[in-house]
Amino acid sequence: MPITNNKLTFSEYQENFSDIHPPFETVEGASVEANRCLFCYDAPCMKSCPTSIDVPKFIKQITTDNIKGSAHTIFSANIMGGGCSKVCPVEKLCEGACVYNLLEEKPISIARLQRYSTDQAIEQKWQLFKRKPFTGKKVAVVGAGPAGLSCAHVLSREGVDITVYEKEQKGGGLMTYGIAAYKVTPEFCEEEVDYITSLGGIEILYGRELGKDISLVELQNQYDAVFLAIGVGLTRELGIKGEKLEGVEDAISFIYNLRTNPYNNIQVGDKVVVIGMGMTAIDAATQAKRLGAKEVTLVYRRTQDEMPCTEAELNIAKLDGCKIIWLAAPKKILGKHGKVSGLMCDVMQLGAPDTSGRRSPESTGETFTLEVDMIIKATGQLPFEKLVSYNELQNRNGKITIDENGITNWAKVFAGGDCVNGGKEVVDAVQAGKDAAKGILNLIMKTD
Ligand code: SF4
Repeated sequence: MPITNNKLTFSEYQENFSDIHPPFETVEGASVEANRCLFCYDAPCMKSCPTSIDVPKFIKQITTDNIKGSAHTIFSANIMGGGCSKVCPVEKLCEGACVYNLLEEKPISIARLQRYSTDQAIEQKWQLFKRKPFTGKKVAVVGAGPAGLSCAHVLSREGVDITVYEKEQKGGGLMTYGIAAYKVTPEFCEEEVDYITSLGGIEILYGRELGKDISLVELQNQYDAVFLAIGVGLTRELGIKGEKLEGVEDAISFIYNLRTNPYNNIQVGDKVVVIGMGMTAIDAATQAKRLGAKEVTLVYRRTQDEMPCTEAELNIAKLDGCKIIWLAAPKKILGKHGKVSGLMCDVMQLGAPDTSGRRSPESTGETFTLEVDMIIKATGQLPFEKLVSYNELQNRNGKITIDENGITNWAKVFAGGDCVNGGKEVVDAVQAGKDAAKGILNLIMKTD
C-alpha cells in the first residue's frame, strides 16, 4: 500500500479537479434565475451576508443586463465577492436565508449569480472604482489574504497608499493556499489579487515575513498605521503516539502542496484517514480521493449534529465515495518500519455540553483499528502564538486582542481576521478588513 504520486492519468486529474460549481453558460440562464428573485424588502439574504452585499440590488441589475452595475454593487461591499461566490458556505449564509426556503422551493442561486457578474468584471478587467487623490498617508498591511486585501482596497479608494508585506510568493492567503482546487483554481486567485491591486496605490512585497524580514517596530515607525492580517498557522497536534511516523501529514500542508504543485506530483496513500470534520477536513478528504486514493475515511469524535462543516460539504465527500465514521477519536497511530500502518480509535459517546455548547465526546472504553497508509490531520488551525507573544501583542492563546476600534495594545497597530478570531470564513475576513480600514481612517485622518 504505497504512498505515491502519479496515480491517475492527466485527463483524470483534469476531470477530478474541474470546477464543482459550473457558471451559467448563457445570458438567458442567468436572466431566468435572476427573475425568480422576489427582491424582498429587508432581504434576509443580505442580512445573513457578513459583508452585507445588497443581494436584491445586484440581482435586479442582472435582470436589466446591467452587469457592470451588478459587479459594482457586489464589490462595493466585498472586493473578494468573486472568490466568495465560489467558496462561501452559502447554504448557511445568503442562500440558507432566502425566503424561497420557507416556501419549500429551491432558494435563488445567489452565489452563481454573483459569480456571473464578478467573473465578467475580473475577466474583462473592468475598473469600477476610482481612487481619491493621495492623502499623504501610508499604511502597512501584513498579510495579503482576504482581510489584508479587503482593508488595502478600502484604504486605497480613500487615497491612502498601502504596502502589503506577504511571506508567500502569491497573494490571496487561505483562498490561494488553503481551499480545494475544484472550488477555486490557483489561476483565478491570482487574477483576483491582480484585479484588486489594479486600483492602484497598493504594492505587495512578496517573500517578506514579519519577524524575519521586517519588525513590527520598523512598520510602526515607517507608517501612519499598521494592519496585522497574519491569519492562522498549522494544524493542531493530536498529541498521541505515532504522530511523527512517515505518512502522517497535516491538512494545511497537504492542501498547500496541492495548490502549488502539479496534481501528478502530489503523493497520496491508498487507504487514507482524515481526522476532523470541518471544511478543511472535507477538502483534504475529497482531494485525496480525487488524487487516486482507493479508500478515504473521515473520522470524527462527535456526531453529524455537531459537525462544523455544512451538509452540502458533507455531501461532496459522500458523493466522492469517502466513508464517515462518527463518534471515533484517534488514540494511537500504529507503524511498521517507520511508516504509518494503522490508526487505533476510541469509540466515543456524547456527554454533557462543553463551553462551545456542543455535547462533549467521552470514551466508551472500546477501541477499533483501521488499516491505513496515510493519515491527514485536520483538527483546526492554531494562531501564530510565538510571533504574537514575541512582539508582546496582547492575546488570548495566541489570538490577538483588539479593542472596539480594532486596535491592539500597540499604538497605531490594528489587527483583524483569523489572527483575531482564530479562523472563520473568507467572507468574515473580508468584513474584518473593512472594519479595520474604518478604524484606521478614523485614526489617521484626524491626526493632522
Ligand atoms: Fe431574492 Fe431570496 Fe434574497 Fe428574497 S431572500 S431578495 S428572493 S435572494
